[in-house]
Amino acid sequence: MKTSINNDELINSGGGWAPGKLDHDKIPFLVWPPKPLKFLKWLFHPSDGYIFPWAALHFSLALLSYLFLLPSYETLSTLSFNWIGIIFIRNFIFVLIYSSVWHYYLHVYRFQKDQYRFNLRPLGKGKNWLFGSQTKENMFWSLFSAVPIQTFYESLMLWCFVNDYMLFPIKDWFSSPFIIIYFVLLVLFVPMIQHIHFYFFHRIMHFSFLYKWFHYLHHKNVNVGPWSGLSMHPVEHFFYLTTILVHFIIPSHPIHFIYQGIHTTIGAQKGHSGYERLIVNPKTGKSVPSAGYYHYLHHKYFECNYGEITHPFDKWFGTFHDGTKVTHEKLFGKKS
Ligand SMILES: [Zn+2]
Ligand SMILES: [Zn+2]
Repeated sequence: MKTSINNDELINSGGGWAPGKLDHDKIPFLVWPPKPLKFLKWLFHPSDGYIFPWAALHFSLALLSYLFLLPSYETLSTLSFNWIGIIFIRNFIFVLIYSSVWHYYLHVYRFQKDQYRFNLRPLGKGKNWLFGSQTKENMFWSLFSAVPIQTFYESLMLWCFVNDYMLFPIKDWFSSPFIIIYFVLLVLFVPMIQHIHFYFFHRIMHFSFLYKWFHYLHHKNVNVGPWSGLSMHPVEHFFYLTTILVHFIIPSHPIHFIYQGIHTTIGAQKGHSGYERLIVNPKTGKSVPSAGYYHYLHHKYFECNYGEITHPFDKWFGTFHDGTKVTHEKLFGKKS
């Protein structure tokens, strides 16, 4: 949605789509005074809200994994490459298919051309990239570093759960109404856990030597595509995916941490699609949300927007870029 702000007042951060001035207050979460009705509308909007479509889709994949693709608890009680292999293959296939569908739809077949696209330049090619291509390099780190580390954390958590090593495992989520309510609320909170964890972890990754040694790899992607989200150094994956381990210390069921892992991996790919909206019906132009301009600006200008627009951390710490020229000059001076 475009705001009423004049286009001349906005930065032109790649020649493509700019959604207008960004503002945390447009998301009716953590706002003062609270806006409960707006919050509920945002939460349950059928195609443009917090739950639908993406959180619901990612949760469905987690549920499917738990119900049909998980070895028995008895098998999980002993660490073995046989069952860890099953989890690895499932995670690998999810990341491969999900990211490929986004990539082919938007960047190969270009079904919506440059509509809602932030940066009109093609994805990178040449000797700066592994295998001579940005997409191939991004695929390599996503599939052969992110997926094994996701699998490592998820398998560790499953093994801890069945052996009673977790602090507060939810063994029977249907045992009382309070546990049912908590269970559902925690499912809803999983994307927020990821956003909060992401801000602090990501802020630390911008400390000088951590950036120089590890985080630079993700930032090679100034222009982004659906494989860029998980294109990180293995050391960065090791910390990025610790969001799964949060469930070790809060009461959780395996569905919660399987979902946390899936949302953190494939959600990152969606969040780097390079397009703010995905057109799902070319005839009517109907679209659903895709990647956020908020994080795109981080890739374009580095030292701003470390978190997500759902949380005001960047605003509190003076690193919030709202897409306007005035803010851009305040953050970076006139140099860029
Ligand atoms: Zn990124
Ligand atoms: Zn960064």
